[in-house]
Amino acid sequence: MRLLLHSALFEHDIRGLLMAYFPWTKFETEEGTSEDNFVEITFDNEAGMEKDGFLSGVIRARIDGRFREDAFRAEYRDLKFCRNRFKRDFCRMMTEMTGKILPWGTLSGVRPVKIPMEMLENGKTEPEILEYLQDELLISEEKAALSVEIAERERKLMARSCGEDTYSLYLGIPFCPTTCLYCSFTSYPIARYRERTSEYLAALEKEIDFVSRAFQGKRLRTIYFGGGTPTTLEPQEMEQILVSLEQKLDLSELLEWTVEAGRPDSITKEKLEVLRRHPVSRISINPQTFQQKTLDLIGRRHTTEEVEAAYALARSLGFGNINMDLILGLPGETEDDIRATMEKITELSPENVTLHSLAVKRSSRLNLMKEKYQGFRMENSEGIMRMCETALREMGLRPYYLYRQKNMAGNLENTGFAKPGTEGIYNIMTMEECQDIVALGAGAVSRRNFPGGRIERCDNVKDIERYLSGIDEMIRRKEELFA
Ligand code: SF4
Repeated sequence: MRLLLHSALFEHDIRGLLMAYFPWTKFETEEGTSEDNFVEITFDNEAGMEKDGFLSGVIRARIDGRFREDAFRAEYRDLKFCRNRFKRDFCRMMTEMTGKILPWGTLSGVRPVKIPMEMLENGKTEPEILEYLQDELLISEEKAALSVEIAERERKLMARSCGEDTYSLYLGIPFCPTTCLYCSFTSYPIARYRERTSEYLAALEKEIDFVSRAFQGKRLRTIYFGGGTPTTLEPQEMEQILVSLEQKLDLSELLEWTVEAGRPDSITKEKLEVLRRHPVSRISINPQTFQQKTLDLIGRRHTTEEVEAAYALARSLGFGNINMDLILGLPGETEDDIRATMEKITELSPENVTLHSLAVKRSSRLNLMKEKYQGFRMENSEGIMRMCETALREMGLRPYYLYRQKNMAGNLENTGFAKPGTEGIYNIMTMEECQDIVALGAGAVSRRNFPGGRIERCDNVKDIERYLSGIDEMIRRKEELFA
């Protein structure tokens, strides 16, 4: 398909929306033959819109033999207003030409809940917010209601968890038993690094020492021990890190301590007992699906029975807040497969379930080997999401955080559901950016919030060798960020 843009104005938004209308499509930027599908956008007075008091242009498109040309004109209040109006006209035209309705309308960003959140803070009522989301941003009635419900819930949780001098801590263990087909996280097979984990932990210890110095007097609210899969470490290695955190940091104001025990093939009784000896309050055991054929296909190399056994073991040891991640749209899965997975989830009844729509990330094996998986259906739909959401609500879980990614199956969203009082607070902290996050380990990204809403980030390198050799430099950069 040809994409002919005569300026860079709104280019990022246009590309994001076109990817939603035409997933898996490659966009060429040169003129093609007269039969090619194309979208062409021209703005007439881009440089003078402020002075003219409006922005005008033309959107031309040919899709599957159907040609259309629409003039565009929006009042200039500010650039954001113009952009929203342009996107609204563009989406209306694309929807009419393709017959495809985007559930999130003109939104191509990752945090749709931010909009109702800001509007609530500015005193807008729920009907006013719903009207804006549906009429201006073309968000479906269902998604608009979902985002407002989550914004209201998040606001209450944030009021309890944020506040002056608070921070959260992330520690990443970038090892997993095997690499999942769709993975884009910093993760390496543990077998390759078994002999190096002590060096890795020594580097993490240096970073923990930095946090104990730099965040003295600040209130640590949540810890997220993720990766990768921290439970790929040996029990004594996990013990070492947990003891270090308890000894070096003030945990007196801690609300939550989550540990990703995501892969059941990394869980043992001894490791769960280590977690129980420390104030870990929430763990994740992630089935992703209860279809064995899918697990085999996506390279998880564990069985559905192992997921159930790990879950039962965790329950028997007294874990009272367990999250389970599911992915909708995995290769080859049908609606019936997903229904069967939800029946199993209902039977197990975890406190938290995070529903993900499969996102095909550029660095994942699924993208790199996409020809191999072309014959597989990889779809999620509003109907499937609705079925899952209904089942979770019937279990007493409520949606509490939501985000979107590029290239998501069905152009939908990821939503965290929880029984009231068990919500993963760290997840809200990362989405709503209301608190500093100091992040340790390879590939971890720290974030500092400055007054006025400015946010600065600082990344640790992803490569293990470079992380180990450059640890002092990475600590120095964090010292600067949080100075
Ligand atoms: S368990 Fe998670 S981090 Fe590990 S390979 Fe799979 S998707 Fe990646």
